[in-house]
Amino acid sequence: MERKAEGTQRKETRWVSTTDLQKILENWAEKGVLVAPTKVNGEVLFQRIRDIREICWDEDYVNSLVPPKEFVLPNEERLLSYRRTDDQNWVVEVCSEENQETILFGVRSCDVAGLAYLDRFLLGEMFSRPDLADPQYKAKREKFILISIVCQKAAPTCMCVCCDGGPALTEGFDWQLTRLTDGWLVEIGSEKGEKLATGFHYLLQPATDEAIKEQKERVATIIRTFDQYSPDERVPTMAAGRMVSRPLLKEEFWSRIGSRCVECGGCAFICPTCFCFNVVDRPLSPSLQEGDANELAFCPLLVGFNGKGADYERVRYRDCCMLQGFVRQAGGIYPRRTTGERCKTRFFHKLSWQFLGRMNRLGCTGCGRCLRTCLGEVGISRVATEMTEALAEKKLAPAGVTAPKREHQRGHPK
Ligand code: SF4
Ligand code: SF4
Repeated sequence: MERKAEGTQRKETRWVSTTDLQKILENWAEKGVLVAPTKVNGEVLFQRIRDIREICWDEDYVNSLVPPKEFVLPNEERLLSYRRTDDQNWVVEVCSEENQETILFGVRSCDVAGLAYLDRFLLGEMFSRPDLADPQYKAKREKFILISIVCQKAAPTCMCVCCDGGPALTEGFDWQLTRLTDGWLVEIGSEKGEKLATGFHYLLQPATDEAIKEQKERVATIIRTFDQYSPDERVPTMAAGRMVSRPLLKEEFWSRIGSRCVECGGCAFICPTCFCFNVVDRPLSPSLQEGDANELAFCPLLVGFNGKGADYERVRYRDCCMLQGFVRQAGGIYPRRTTGERCKTRFFHKLSWQFLGRMNRLGCTGCGRCLRTCLGEVGISRVATEMTEALAEKKLAPAGVTAPKREHQRGHPK
């Protein structure tokens, strides 16, 4: 299940004091771009910062409400702009940004795993076709240096241990930091990470055996913490994966789950692995956005709107598989009309063997945000548990189907 990307395997370890780590960040914030977790009205959000006193350190939070995928796959992004110059011709300008090298500091392991999942699709790794990489995503992603911090406490919604998403990773990061009693263990996981270490070599020390031992003990302790939340309850991600892959659940089960969805889109918008988007064309001139002109101008290339002299833009914005209209096709064909049908597809994409084979890992990294966000509790952990309960009750599964065993699962909070 683990993703083996070239150049991302762990190479070396170092030790850094808290003061020297702050000096590294301070230096970077002055000369480059530093994005780090900050507290805004009580919520933890990743933002560009210029003063390291704004950083919300790992001890004060478990994870941000919004994943840092915002910085590589924004909610709304202009792809190109165009202008009609005469009856025959259009001038098209493809948007390309000059991105600065950016340190993304304080990312949690589940979000590092989420970025690896996005890379697999958006960088063309899934098709072994790097030439098909999404240019906007690639331009941003290449400039990011990921410095992750191993979690040492879990929220009641966390389930990374059930999804190979944490609390510590062996790859996907440039630096992985673990807070120790005295300073930090730095694991260097890529060539970018090595380059960064070379640039700050005067602040990094060799890691001692004691430091490496302490890090292992701390990771083992946090894994045990998951059991402490709920010693006899586990998130049956693998068992749920088997159920959606075959599939073993009746439509009635999905109707029941779907009836709790109010179609807000939150589950996909805050999920670190969701990347579906829609594309629209619209006028740049505000005057054209009023009245009937707006209807016509919304997609002028298709309806032949005479927008001579006006500028338009093509933007993509995030979409969500739980929203009405998702996958509606030309000619009125609409394969997933109900929320139940859309739920079934969402969980198939997240947990099935078919997608596991394609993406090399589950479509869920266990961040727990969907459960935290969803008003109807249609979070992965809750629904996976309901799947096994439904089979155990033998009410919502076809005759003869029994609940798969919950082997190979680690503890997880309710
Ligand atoms: S499943 Fe929950 S979070 Fe997702 S769209 Fe429905 S109500 Fe919103
Ligand atoms: S499906 Fe839910 S728990 Fe899993 S990665 Fe997405 S938001 Fe996090």
